[in-house]
Amino acid sequence: MTTQNYDVVIVGAGIVGAAFAAALRDSGLNLALVEQHPPEPPTDDWDTRIYAISPGSAALLENLGVWQTLDQSRNGPVYGMSIRGDSGAELEFDAYRAGVPQLAWIMESGRIQHGLWAALQNQDNLTLYAGASCSELAWSAFGARLALGDGTVLHSKLVVAADGRQSWVRAQAGIASRREDYLQSGVVANFVTEQAHRGIARQWFREDGVLAWLPLPDNHISMVWSTDAEHTKALMAASPEQLAEEVGRAGGYALGKLCQLGTTAAFPLSINRVSTLVKPGLALIGDAAHGVHPLAGQGVNLGLRDARELANVLLQRGAAGCGELALLRRYERARLADIAAMQTVTDSLHHLFRSRNPMLAKLRNIGMDFTNQLTPVKTWLMRQALG
Ligand SMILES: Cc1cc2nc3c(=O)[nH]c(=O)nc-3n(C[C@H](O)[C@H](O)[C@H](O)COP(=O)(O)OP(=O)(O)OC[C@H]3O[C@@H](n4cnc5c(N)ncnc54)[C@H](O)[C@@H]3O)c2cc1C
Repeated sequence: MTTQNYDVVIVGAGIVGAAFAAALRDSGLNLALVEQHPPEPPTDDWDTRIYAISPGSAALLENLGVWQTLDQSRNGPVYGMSIRGDSGAELEFDAYRAGVPQLAWIMESGRIQHGLWAALQNQDNLTLYAGASCSELAWSAFGARLALGDGTVLHSKLVVAADGRQSWVRAQAGIASRREDYLQSGVVANFVTEQAHRGIARQWFREDGVLAWLPLPDNHISMVWSTDAEHTKALMAASPEQLAEEVGRAGGYALGKLCQLGTTAAFPLSINRVSTLVKPGLALIGDAAHGVHPLAGQGVNLGLRDARELANVLLQRGAAGCGELALLRRYERARLADIAAMQTVTDSLHHLFRSRNPMLAKLRNIGMDFTNQLTPVKTWLMRQALG
């Protein structure tokens, strides 16, 4: 049995866990990162998992030296957003009026994850446990003890759970997670469009769910349709031609005819709220710390803000006492409002647009038109999205 000692052990090298490890590059902390499925190098095929990356997240990736290594010809800048209610109400945002070059970038998840993973290979203060599984985790007055499947034991002052929404680490710590199933899935697929999308992200709040078209380079778009179980089944069973026709029709043929590229995938949607983000010797980040509806495309962005904040708190303190609860509470206090605001906004929008109440249907469309006229509200919404 091999035993190793670290200051911080991170479990999960998704975008959030990997970015957190990279942010501690110059910290002087001795780090370990455990990942069961390291990312494969990207191929020319388009990833079905596509994210809207906010300027704040892009700036973090740039500070980590990762943005510069990504193939920019695969990233779609968003210059405007057009959001439609189910009775024709409209809400529009544009980068020019917001005084920014672009509102977001539409990017492939696998490429970001692989770019981060590649950067971590040369990080002096980091040991990677790639392809490793976790078998036991316990905390004592001396810190945390994590046993891996091959018998290796990692001791640390702090464990950071970045292992996603079903977090094994969170469960070992006995932290309760309240999960409300939305009884919906996010159905995702990519298409080539007949007409140019001009960098406009489009979203429709429809009776059958929320449909989004996100602009990728070269007349490509990524579609996310958050919809109920029966409709998900039908969309997953559709041929590429049938799916392209249904998605095109649902979007009023705004970009002409569509032609599907690659496969269709579906992800179950839920909101997850945890009772605490920290315990002595433990901090949760990313989806391990919160689940949000993808209608605002903010899950990874929220997680990257956790990673940045926790790294900043640890950088201020250094190795001594990095697992202390009083220090970790600083991270928690700094993150709670942002997380609660995103969960409340996405959850409320989801319920508001799911309601069949005709009065609410009228009000939600009036609200959308009203927001479109009200510059301060629009500015607030935009700031949240850019963060
Ligand atoms: C349909 C859909 C669309 C979305 N669109 C957007 C969007 O446009 N923009 C956006 O910001 N967000 C979006 N999201 C949200 C986004 O997918 C998540 O918020 C994000 O993936 C969370 O990243 P993470 O690193 O915290 O977790 P994950 O991506 O889940 O990564 C967790 C990592 O931990 C590893 N792991 C898990 N358990 C263990 C273990 N026991 N031992 C070792 N390793 C382990 C996993 O292999 C994985 O690599 C969307 C979500 C859905 C469902």
